[in-house]
Amino acid sequence: MTYDFDLFVIGAGSGGVRAARFSAGYGARVAVAESRYLGGTCVNVGCVPKKLLVYGAQFADDFEQASGFGWTPGEATFSWPTLIANKNREIERLNGIYRTLLLNSGVTLLEGHARLLDEHSVEVDGKRYSAERILIATGGWPHIPDIPGREHAINSNQVFYLEQLPKRVLVVGGGYIAVEFASIFNGMGAETSLLYRGDLFLRGFDASLRTHLHQELSKRGLDVQFNTDIVRIDKQPDGSLQATLKDGSTLQADCIFYATGRRPMLDNLGLENTGVSLDDKGYIEVNEQYETKAPSILAIGDVIGRVQLTPVALAEGMAVARRLFKPDEYRPVDYRMIPTAVFSLPNIGTVGLSEEQARQAGHEVTVFESRFRPMKLTLTGSDERTLMKLVVDAKTDRVLGCHMVGPDAGEIVQGLAIALKAGATKQIFDETIGVHPSAAEEFVTLRTPVN
Ligand code: FAD
Ligand code: NDP
Repeated sequence: MTYDFDLFVIGAGSGGVRAARFSAGYGARVAVAESRYLGGTCVNVGCVPKKLLVYGAQFADDFEQASGFGWTPGEATFSWPTLIANKNREIERLNGIYRTLLLNSGVTLLEGHARLLDEHSVEVDGKRYSAERILIATGGWPHIPDIPGREHAINSNQVFYLEQLPKRVLVVGGGYIAVEFASIFNGMGAETSLLYRGDLFLRGFDASLRTHLHQELSKRGLDVQFNTDIVRIDKQPDGSLQATLKDGSTLQADCIFYATGRRPMLDNLGLENTGVSLDDKGYIEVNEQYETKAPSILAIGDVIGRVQLTPVALAEGMAVARRLFKPDEYRPVDYRMIPTAVFSLPNIGTVGLSEEQARQAGHEVTVFESRFRPMKLTLTGSDERTLMKLVVDAKTDRVLGCHMVGPDAGEIVQGLAIALKAGATKQIFDETIGVHPSAAEEFVTLRTPVN
């Protein structure tokens, strides 16, 4: 049987674009369908605009700290609409780049919602296309719990298009998005509270990082509240919002932003016309080759719910393209030692095992830690402190995890990830000459264990 395409990709986000471009580059006949925006979540309502807003918020620090270095800046004012308009222009530019990349690599771009009709057929805008293989890369969608008044809350898709900076913001959740946006709003001068249902936010990260970041965010005037949750939201006659918490107390706000996780995007995808199955959390079930229960249908990225990060979706897209169309170059994705950053102010940067995970995995661990005032802040009134931590296997001397809270932690951890993947021992860290003066050099000068 001949098909219209060798590969039909549903979703032009991080994973889908990577798989489509590389497959076409290897000579396959490829189509990609996209219903909303080229580049997907990361480019439009994720990593990229988020990072631009973080940069925007960081200027507040720069203005404040400048006087210690002799500057007398004029009165700083901030315009949210200007930042959002500039951000939107940049996103449009990136959308154009994605379009050019796809078209130049020979991919057929179909802009519309794709629905599976059977295991080899997809419908877009009433037109049917056949393909030998179909790749689902439809990503995720923000989830807001079902509480009375949830329609008054906004999610991460909407937060990027707020017309004005709200004066008072409640951010709900304790994951990446909640912590990053609490920093953004706080940095821009909004009266911000972060409400998390558990004892300490960022579950799964090293406990020292979580505690340290909590302290640093609080020092910056962010109101962080744990063991709390909103049970209802009511709109007030003046247009403001009232949140009732589970202990019966109330908080007033102009914006309530929920960042309580994401669900897989499977809406009207037509999975019922195929043998594709879901796992117990509702994500598409795949094997190690990203094959679903329907042999001709594969899935990658956030929709399979493994590690919801852009570089992981890219690596999965690459692996699929290579395995199908360039098998000589195929290498499975290595999910160990994935570095990650939380772009809060200050950042978290982390790679490898937390101290808790290392102990749980049966390692006897030696822990090295340093807390210090970053040099840039010594001439300023800021009492922010940086934390750096190494988790080392006491028997083999192998460094199991590197963790940091501090300026540029997200940048610093990338290089450390290479060392950890290469199996670096603490001795190799010790023998590495530092870059002086820098914060990063602390990672190679930690000498005395804290345990
Ligand atoms: P997506 O990028 O979500 O792409 C899926 C695409 O499929 C979308 O464009 C969607 O419109 C399209 N689609 C869905 N259904 C259909 C259909 N039926 N037909 C046609 N098209 C369809 N990750 C990081 O690594 N670093 C960060 O700093 C970071 N920050 C983030 C900040 C926020 C606020 C959010 C929400 C996420 C962030 N992420 C970050 C996560 C990252 O964005 C995702 O892991 C990544 O985008 C997943 O890529 P994907 O290809 O699986 O899906
Ligand atoms: P996360 O899964 O990281 O966090 C969700 C948070 O919401 C958790 O603290 C969770 O609490 C809490 N929560 C879940 N359900 C409820 C509920 N019903 N009521 C109250 N609280 C609830 O999701 P995010 O939305 O922050 O981000 C999604 C993913 O996107 C991330 O996991 C990450 O992979 C990716 N991302 C990456 C970024 C980066 O690389 N810098 C930035 C932003 C997103 P609990 O811990 O108790 O379950």
